[in-house]
Amino acid sequence: MAFNELDLAERLNIAREGTAYFAERLAMLSDADLSGPTLLEGWTRKHLVAHVAYNAAALCRILDWAATGIETPMYESVEQRAREIEEGATLSAGSLRKLFSERSAQLDEKWRTLPDAAWDSEVRTAQGRMVPASETAWMRNREVWLHAVDLGNGGRFEDFPEVVLDSLLDDIVAMWRRRGEGAGLILEVGDRRFVVVEDGPPVTDTVAGSLAAVVRWASGRGARGLAAGSELQPPRWL
Ligand code: ZN
Repeated sequence: MAFNELDLAERLNIAREGTAYFAERLAMLSDADLSGPTLLEGWTRKHLVAHVAYNAAALCRILDWAATGIETPMYESVEQRAREIEEGATLSAGSLRKLFSERSAQLDEKWRTLPDAAWDSEVRTAQGRMVPASETAWMRNREVWLHAVDLGNGGRFEDFPEVVLDSLLDDIVAMWRRRGEGAGLILEVGDRRFVVVEDGPPVTDTVAGSLAAVVRWASGRGARGLAAGSELQPPRWL
């Protein structure tokens, strides 16, 4: 089942669940813990919380675009996005917690009040793709679930809804295919088995395991729990 086949209301509810999951992990961390490292190289937890908060604000901007027709980008530029995160990481722990909860609540408010007709309006993602405003549900899901794991205090792929795992794997494999990476690689998830690159070279590598373990590996978050292929490095995703 792909995430975008679900009803919009259900997609938004899963995003809210993901936000709550991230918020729970965040609440378990002391203020001092927020200066500690994440699974993302070079980012402390403060960087990560600032990024997740500013991502909500950026999604609010494109929802405003959908509602009004006045073009507002997610971010002015790659540099502005990076600078905002660096500056956000210098805020106090209390300010960052507040920033996260306020921006998340604002995004939810935009979703609850967006006029029906605006959900199909096209807006641009940070990567430059044009998508309907309803895609913001999936964009936010990816951020909150994955980054809850990146906080590095016990968040687990096994806790994600199956539909989120399925669609993450679809996204990752689609990106590898667009870039021509993953040649010779087979993924085996339960009884599903698929080649990453069709018409590619003979299969040389197999990665097998539960859906959660394969998605963890494919997203570059480690090989724990794989039944096969744990010595392999995944192709780059983002
Ligand atoms: Zn992110």
